[in-house]
Amino acid sequence: MRWEDKRRSENVEDRRGGHVLRRVAGGGIGTLLLVLVAMYFGIDPSIILNQSQLPIPGAGQPTQSEPYSASPAEKSLAEFVSVVLADTEDTWQALFRGMGQTYQEPKLVLFSEAVESACGLASAAVGPFYCPMDQKVYIDLSFYGDLKNRFGAPGDFAQAYVIAHEVGHHVQNLLGIAEKVNSLRSRASESQSNRLSVMMELQADCLAGVWAHHADRARQILEEGDVEEALNAASMIGDDRMQRQGRGYVTPDSFTHGSSAQRVRWFKRGLETGSMDQCNTFEAERL
Ligand SMILES: [Zn+2]
Repeated sequence: MRWEDKRRSENVEDRRGGHVLRRVAGGGIGTLLLVLVAMYFGIDPSIILNQSQLPIPGAGQPTQSEPYSASPAEKSLAEFVSVVLADTEDTWQALFRGMGQTYQEPKLVLFSEAVESACGLASAAVGPFYCPMDQKVYIDLSFYGDLKNRFGAPGDFAQAYVIAHEVGHHVQNLLGIAEKVNSLRSRASESQSNRLSVMMELQADCLAGVWAHHADRARQILEEGDVEEALNAASMIGDDRMQRQGRGYVTPDSFTHGSSAQRVRWFKRGLETGSMDQCNTFEAERL
């Protein structure tokens, strides 16, 4: 991706190296909050329940935070994330203007190990997430190491796709889709609720594709191999693949993000058409 000379966002909040005070000791409400966050964003809660047995590094310690010293690689990664965020701002501002609406820019919080969001306390193990209550995207940059090494999805455009997907959740929030879906999910059976989560996630993938389409048209950001990097990432983090890798078998009813093929298909649809109308996963005949 061509990004070095592009605009940086003013909406990055750097909380790396800060301590997080754990308000509730033990499993209790702390764990519950984490699980709620996880369900809300469609992450497999078992990941967090297991993690929450462990003390969160930095949690419960005195709040004197030493300045975070980032390595040159981390500095460059933080710059990159800032450029991608800035580009989503320009793109979604234009698209919202086209609909006669104003785009409210989300903040992006960089954190290390654990972070307190309006949606609860989260450890880095949950991966990047969006909290609709404070309209912020949260990311621990070490996730990109996992993306490359654990999930087999290297490349800067794979990294950009992750941010664009979370910003896609922000767009869903601004358009009132998130609220509707969450109220439906609260009354649905578990498998129906999972299906709604899959629709939300695939729509965020499609919106990430819509971003890439317009960003490339306006600012020629794509280099050879970029699209493949994003499609590979979408495929590598599909539920079927993750489940097979994690426990050796696949149960589609428990999918919360969509299969690899679905994630690739919806990202591609957004990318090729550049049209939000093409991202209506809720009324699609086939996901
Ligand atoms: Zn998501």
